[in-house]
Amino acid sequence: MNVAENIKNLQSKIPENVTLVAVSKTKPNSAILEAYNSGQRIFGENKVQELADKYEALPKDIEWHMIGHLQRNKVKYIAPFVSLIHGVDSIKLLQEINKRTNQNNRTIDCLLQIHIAEEETKFGFSAEEVKDFLDSDQFKTFQNIKVVGLMGMATNTTDSTKVISEFGTLNTLFMDLKQKHSDLKTLSMGMSGDYELAIEQGSTMIRVGSRIFGGR
Ligand SMILES: *Cc1c(COP(=O)(O)O)cnc(C)c1O
Repeated sequence: MNVAENIKNLQSKIPENVTLVAVSKTKPNSAILEAYNSGQRIFGENKVQELADKYEALPKDIEWHMIGHLQRNKVKYIAPFVSLIHGVDSIKLLQEINKRTNQNNRTIDCLLQIHIAEEETKFGFSAEEVKDFLDSDQFKTFQNIKVVGLMGMATNTTDSTKVISEFGTLNTLFMDLKQKHSDLKTLSMGMSGDYELAIEQGSTMIRVGSRIFGGR
């Protein structure tokens, strides 16, 4: 695996308005530095402890994204430094992030995870829930977080028609909400196996791991 080459390759293939998050979970710091030295600054991790350890050890101008399911009792470990939390899947979690951010005197950008896949195991809000929440008074009370967009994961299948339809559904919701909520700018969808389809369907941020760093 030539990490630097993989990054360059990807960067040359994706449109300028699409941000690449290099998903470095389970990979050693040496691999992250290889990507860093080829210009990559945004990295995604899905485990709190691993994310905190890597933040400590690696250059401070890296932008760290939390991309996995986040437990409420672990928010405090990443609140001081994380720049974007992709998988916010409940109001209670948002409440906790808001509290911890306040303690750290900063604002954290968040993406609300929308359930688009067929699998029961994927976390997230429904379209209705997210619409209601963004219109609620409760949402306005969260002063220390900024909801900047939506995130979703398609069904893990080789049936591209299905994946396209799920990404399309999410993009339609995103465009719809954007009309009313001008802070929504980011649509995080697409991974190694489906990022091309995701970009065709309007993704502005892709989370790519194995295609950069090799299999896990
Ligand atoms: C692991 C992971 C990715 C990256 O997966 P690849 O298939 O290796 O590109 C993207 N998003 C989330 C939420 C992940 O957990």
